[in-house]
Amino acid sequence: MTGNINDLSRYSQYDTEKLDLIKEVLREFKPIDMVKCYCREISFDEDAILESSMDMDIDDDKVPMESRPGELREIRKSVLKVIPFSEPEKYCPECGREYPKEEVVCPDCLVHLKKISDKVDVCDIKSEPKFIFNGQNSYESFEDLLNKGNLLKINEFDFTIDDYQIILHDIKSQAFLNFNKLVKENEIDFDELDILEKIILFAKSFVKVDYKSSGSQLGYFESDVISIDDRQTDSLQITTLIHELSHFLIQEILIHILCKLLDATRNSLTESLLTFILSYAHFTQLIDEYAAHNVEGRFTIFGFQDYSSFTQIEQSMDGEMTAEEIEITKSIGNTFALSIKEILESLIDRQMREEIKEQFLKDVMERPNYRALEMENCQILNDEGFIKAIWLILNDGCEVAASNIDKLLSIL
Ligand SMILES: [Zn+2]
Ligand SMILES: [Zn+2]
Repeated sequence: MTGNINDLSRYSQYDTEKLDLIKEVLREFKPIDMVKCYCREISFDEDAILESSMDMDIDDDKVPMESRPGELREIRKSVLKVIPFSEPEKYCPECGREYPKEEVVCPDCLVHLKKISDKVDVCDIKSEPKFIFNGQNSYESFEDLLNKGNLLKINEFDFTIDDYQIILHDIKSQAFLNFNKLVKENEIDFDELDILEKIILFAKSFVKVDYKSSGSQLGYFESDVISIDDRQTDSLQITTLIHELSHFLIQEILIHILCKLLDATRNSLTESLLTFILSYAHFTQLIDEYAAHNVEGRFTIFGFQDYSSFTQIEQSMDGEMTAEEIEITKSIGNTFALSIKEILESLIDRQMREEIKEQFLKDVMERPNYRALEMENCQILNDEGFIKAIWLILNDGCEVAASNIDKLLSIL
């Protein structure tokens, strides 16, 4: 295959989904709506205060529940107030139903009850998610992995969009297996989790998640670990997790493509090689960053995004790339973002996406930044252009890597 970055603009087309999404945001989240939203919060709180003060006036012990069926309101309150005295202490690990201390088994599931206090906290779960690609060749050194024959194979690039779809499917199904394992082994009642806990659990189906409480970065992804600052609001933790997961997934997709081209088994060498490729040049850094920002936007709300890591790279370049070339990196990033979104959406369904947005509107106090929205690039590459872009990333990247083995070794 031949070509360069500027050739790719010929394969560019509108990303109608992103365009629609932005239009929808501009319609829904005008400043006036934000104001209304806060008012709703306040009046809700006042109601809650009013209700709780009404509770105090009811003498619960004297409300015979069965004999006063018409007074649902009081009965409901009475039940609520009785809870502290017979608070369930056990739960069924099968169906999740809760039971008082004296119960032993769940009659429906016929299993022993467990103590609620022993329930696992999703944040504490240690995960070892596995992504496998098996090939005929297992390379044990970078010299072997990047030998002349292999560099030629990468240059010839015998890879189609159907191969790409198979890889996406493969990554999706491996994530599902990892997720199922986590839920079963830790006896998690998924429906009981709040939206942040659900996203943490999903993230742990792809990578290890660590918590940090120092430094100014919200989070970062390094080798197979996402580190996230848990001092942030829930919604910021969610967007950070989705952003960092996107970095992981771009890397994983490219590892699988490389292994397919070389009929190689995925190992720590292929992983380090892709870490190098995604970071050695501004070209790949921009693609990686734009894709991650974009996926974040598709799962949360456009207009609240922070493109700072993209802009930082852009500013550090000092005229190294033309404006058109930078736009092409955005189109490539957008196209990767679509694939990542597809993988994540197989786990994060529509209802959860709504919950994420609700959480966001609860936490966020600033107004959306429409200027940033107007600057969004809404182009994607067609299949032919995308394959060429992947070729450009891998072919150039592997060539440079082959003459920088010492750098690869430092990543390993
Ligand atoms: Zn049960
Ligand atoms: Zn990033």
